Amino acid sequence: MHAFLHEKTVVVTGAAGFLGSHLCDRLLDAGSTVIGVDNFITGRRENLAHLEKNEAFTFIEADVNSEPQSYLKDSIPDVVLHFASPASPPRYQEHPTETYLVNSYATHLLLSFLKKVNPQARFLFAGTSEAYGDPAVHPQPETYWGNVNPNGIRSCYDEAKRMGETVCGVFHRDMGMDTRIVRIFNTYGPRMNPADGRVIPNFVMQALRGEAVTIYGDGTQTRSYCFVDDLVSGILTFLVHPDLAGETLNIGNPEEFTILETAREIEKIVGEVIHTFESLPGDDPMRRQPDISKAKRLLGWEPKVTFGEGLQQTIEYFRTQLDS
Ligand code: UDP
Repeated sequence: MHAFLHEKTVVVTGAAGFLGSHLCDRLLDAGSTVIGVDNFITGRRENLAHLEKNEAFTFIEADVNSEPQSYLKDSIPDVVLHFASPASPPRYQEHPTETYLVNSYATHLLLSFLKKVNPQARFLFAGTSEAYGDPAVHPQPETYWGNVNPNGIRSCYDEAKRMGETVCGVFHRDMGMDTRIVRIFNTYGPRMNPADGRVIPNFVMQALRGEAVTIYGDGTQTRSYCFVDDLVSGILTFLVHPDLAGETLNIGNPEEFTILETAREIEKIVGEVIHTFESLPGDDPMRRQPDISKAKRLLGWEPKVTFGEGLQQTIEYFRTQLDS
């Protein structure tokens, strides 16, 4: 991994986000020169505070829905990781236009720019398990085309992520560029925004504050949670592989939990929690579990951190956020 990334100029869009900031850390560890870009629509400055004095890291505050040349100036990236986007359902529904643009139009802008300045560059797009919608196939392999409502409350995100995949496909097939798509399943860990609205931050913060955890629906819907360190290892192993241009890979942890079981796992660490039931939001997928056999086969990667271990670290982080 290190050999490919050493002394490369790597642009990370969404660098101040949960995943973006962890990616920056690991790329810097691998010897890359990293340019992080974020407009703080959902990213947080504190996620990058520890990199302020790192000479291999440059931060640019910019909206990636604008021309890349306007904010990257004369930099010529060897690699771009396009991770800018609100990712939590309540947040992307607050910013639907920015969300559909950053995943579709900004993908086009970044790839058009790369084609001009460095057509050999490698481009990795943050796709999503939401591309599978409310899946009729379980678990979900990359070959499944999904069951997505094109005009529902999630479509500003999931249809735009699908469009982003289309853009990557066109630049690869028709223009010969090295684009790769990682479909990211539910991920958790330190640096998640405690107010982000997703299930793990909600439940942990509620439990730590002694409030009731809010179960949407009857809590029998499932998710499969990957600890951020495992996810980032999977993504970077995919990125540095010499032969995977044009590929799409699921990266996630296949261990599946109902929402009620999720609350119970948190309870094991923080002590007894009470539940309150609220209505299920529209188009909420009933089941979600990655089929990671392709990633195992091509990368030799699989997640290592159990849900209990990952939760322990995540809860420690959220304890530091209790006053926010
Ligand atoms: N959920 C819940 N209570 C919450 C937040 C989420 O029961 O306070 C449920 C939500 O309805 C969904 C699952 O947890 O079924 C995961 O939601 P999340 O927003 O984390 O991400 P999604 O996987 O739906 O994009």
